[in-house]
Amino acid sequence: TSRLLASVPRLSSPATWLEGIDTFVFDCDGVIWRGDSVIDGVPGILAKLRAAGKKIFFVTNNSTKSRKGYKAKFDSLGLDVKAEEIFSSSFAAAAYLQQTKFLEKRKGKKVYVIGEVGIGEELDLIGVPWVGGPGDKDKVAELSPGSKVEHDEDVGAVIVGFDRHVNYFKIQNAQLCINENEDCEFIATNLDAVTHLTDAQEWAGNGAMVGAIKGCTGVEPTVVGKPSPLMIDFMVDQLKLERSKIAMVGDRLDTDVVFGTSNGLQTCLVLSGVTTEEKLLSDDNAIAPDFFASSIADFYPEA
Ligand code: PLP
Ligand code: CA
Repeated sequence: TSRLLASVPRLSSPATWLEGIDTFVFDCDGVIWRGDSVIDGVPGILAKLRAAGKKIFFVTNNSTKSRKGYKAKFDSLGLDVKAEEIFSSSFAAAAYLQQTKFLEKRKGKKVYVIGEVGIGEELDLIGVPWVGGPGDKDKVAELSPGSKVEHDEDVGAVIVGFDRHVNYFKIQNAQLCINENEDCEFIATNLDAVTHLTDAQEWAGNGAMVGAIKGCTGVEPTVVGKPSPLMIDFMVDQLKLERSKIAMVGDRLDTDVVFGTSNGLQTCLVLSGVTTEEKLLSDDNAIAPDFFASSIADFYPEA
């Protein structure tokens, strides 16, 4: 409704706003980079925020890389970031298994992964055994009479992340694990409907892979990426942060801004990614950030 949008102001006094914030949580794609290019002004703004003593974290719903993989990406883009400052939905999936004591409570159980290298790398770091992932890329579900996909009965959780090699074998295997194995959990790294793999068009996101598994099992997944509270609760607890002094900065309304508003954070939408000013201010949008800005370069306009 328009009442709402009239009330989303452009960030006009950034210096005053910045004073009240001690931690910035930045979404990655559309805020820090677009694809493989750093967004204009970002390195200078990060340096200024650090010089001002602000804590900085990066949160991405893209599960295709692990924290280590993202550290390499930040390095290759010339951005000086510590691995511990990065929270990816692949890391969140592993953190969820750790929090729920998967290894202790589900002794001998493993995870079936639909996804790329990021999830497996994070599971290896916490010692959770897993199968599937990139290794199932060329597997085929044989449909001749009498043939079956033989699923692993020791799978106690299925994690579904973005997978450019999703196939019918993987879907059937996940379906069998969830439907046939006792107490098998269904975990989704994120539900992004579409993503910006290339500038040419929007591409089907992990919502497609999760939707396939939901569709054939009727089971709702536990979502660990934005807007689920898991990653921010993890940061707040481990790093003793004060929620009201955290600003979530993102380019998506339904993941980033909801992640902020539903978890007690301040929110700033930037127009450097997928959301246009028109969409933000349209009557159809009911998700309101505290502010919007063209990009994070607006945080220090004189720079
Ligand atoms: N998932 C995939 C596969 C992506 O390619 C992207 C963005 O490129 C995202 C999710 C969203 O990432 P972020 O949360 O950093 O915007
Ligand atoms: Ca984004």
